[in-house]
Order: sequence, then C-alpha cells, then structure tokens
Amino acid sequence: MEDIFSLKGKVAVITGSTKGIGKSIATQMAFHGAQVVISSRKSDACETVRDEINAAIGEGRGEAVSIPCHIGHKEQLQSLVDQTQAQLGKIDILVCNAAVNPFYGSMQDIPDDAFDKIMHSNIKSNHWLCQMVIPQMVARKDGVIIIVSSIGGIKGSNDLGSYAISKAADMQLARNISAEFGADNIRANAIAPGLIKTDFARALWEKPENLAERTSLSALGRIGEPDEIGGVAVMLASRAGNFLTGQTLAVDGGR
Ligand code: NAP
Repeated sequence: MEDIFSLKGKVAVITGSTKGIGKSIATQMAFHGAQVVISSRKSDACETVRDEINAAIGEGRGEAVSIPCHIGHKEQLQSLVDQTQAQLGKIDILVCNAAVNPFYGSMQDIPDDAFDKIMHSNIKSNHWLCQMVIPQMVARKDGVIIIVSSIGGIKGSNDLGSYAISKAADMQLARNISAEFGADNIRANAIAPGLIKTDFARALWEKPENLAERTSLSALGRIGEPDEIGGVAVMLASRAGNFLTGQTLAVDGGR
C-alpha cells in the first residue's frame, strides 16, 4: 500500500518556520519525507531549528536546510526562492506562514504605518512570493500553495480588525490562485487556525480569563497546539489532499 501522506521527493519552503505553527509544519513535512527550508528573520534561529529537525526525524526521512528571509523585503523573498532553487533544485510546496500584527484595538485608532505594515507583510509579501514561485510550478505542472490565514478573517472583529482584513484577503489569494492555475495542477488552500498556543498569540491565552473568553465558544473548549496545524498542512500538501483546492479550512476546535 502507498502512503498517501508521504512527501518524499518534495521540496517545501515555509516562511516563519523557527517557532510555533511554521516550525510544526516544517517538522511534520520533513518527518513525512520532504526537504524543508527553515526560514525567519534570524539566521541563528534558522540554523538551530534546522539542526533540531535533522536530529529528530531520523534516517530515511526528509531533511531541513536553513535560508533566512524577512518577508517584508522583496529582495529577500527573491533570494529565498533563488537559494532554494540553487540548493534543492525546485519548490514543490510553498507555505506562506509568517505574518505580523503590530496593533491591537479599535480600527478607529490604528496608525497608518501599522495598517500599512499589516497589509504589506500579510498580503503583498504572500502575493510576491507566490508570483515568484508559481512559474516553476506551472512549468512542472505540479505545485501546492498553503497560506496560513486565521479564523479572524472569517468573522467581524472589534480588536484585531486590520489583521482580520489581511487574513480574509489571504483566503481570497488562495482562491484566486486555485482558479487561475488549477489547469496547471497547482492547488492553493488557506488554513485558518483558531487560537493556537504560540508566542504570537500569547496575549490571548496567557491570562486565564482571556483564555476562558477565547475558548468558551469552541466545541472542544480548549486552545490548539502547533502540531494540530502541522498535520493539516501535511494532508494539504500530500496526495491525501489532491482534490482539495481553493478552500479555507478552519482548524479551530469547532470555534
Ligand atoms: P510565532 O510562534 O510567533 O512564530 C512566528 C514565526 O514567524 C517565527 O519563526 C518568526 O521568527 C517568524 N517571523 C516573524 N516575523 C517575520 C518576518 N517579518 N519575516 C519572516 N519571518 C518572520 O507565530 P504563530 O502563532 O506560529 O503564527 C504563524 C501564523 O499563524 C501567522 O500567519 C499567524 O497570523 C497565524 N495564526 C496564528 C494563530 C495563533 O493563535 N497562534 C491563530 C491564527 C492564525 P523570527 O522572529 O526569527 O523572524
């Protein structure tokens, strides 16, 4: 029997993969046989996670390499693509995971520079990276794009408004790519996590009262763990997810 979750022979680039959700996606993809590119703003963190994954996954599985990249800078995104091409030969799976949220509160109060930073990093950088990677996927008639969005982009928000706008746009980016490049066998989907226990969301879960408020409406009644997103990404990237495209999967414990 074939393992339909296998990623053997695949090359995956995951932005923001030194911590949290991105690290889990990279680790799980490597465990399932992919060569994965660990990337974030800090080269030492990338190297540490690369070594950690290579030591953890064991013989006969995938491997990790380190290529630092700040997603806010177009030339660094191009360098991420070019260096991956030079070291690993291709990109089969692109995971746009890194994102920013420099502002919490009413949209009435958000400074222009914070609004611009959110739109730039969470939408434009993902768009750029997809633009850079799609041509080689079209040439091979094979490719998977996963954009890490948020359930914040599905509903109205009174405190994460601009971030939620950017995450809604990420879902549309996945739909647009799926529509335009489906005929080239490129699949694009968004994952919309609910509250996951990472540093990014620490303010929402560290205080028991905040955690209770954020999880009270969820069917499972608890916060998620990064591996509960990593496994979904493996499914989307592998043959198990071959008939899924243009979708947003809310992975939120039933929130
Ligand atoms: P995290 O644990 O804070 O990890 C963020 C990762 O991104 C780190 O590797 C960080 O490393 C990197 N990063 C941050 N800014 C970057 C930049 N400008 N360029 C490149 N890399 C950058 O965050 P997370 O919770 O896993 O979040 C990952 C994704 O999930 C984001 O898109 C977020 O919006 C989404 N999400 C999270 C939750 C949640 O509850 N945690 C819920 C819904 C959606 P460096 O600092 O070294 O750059």
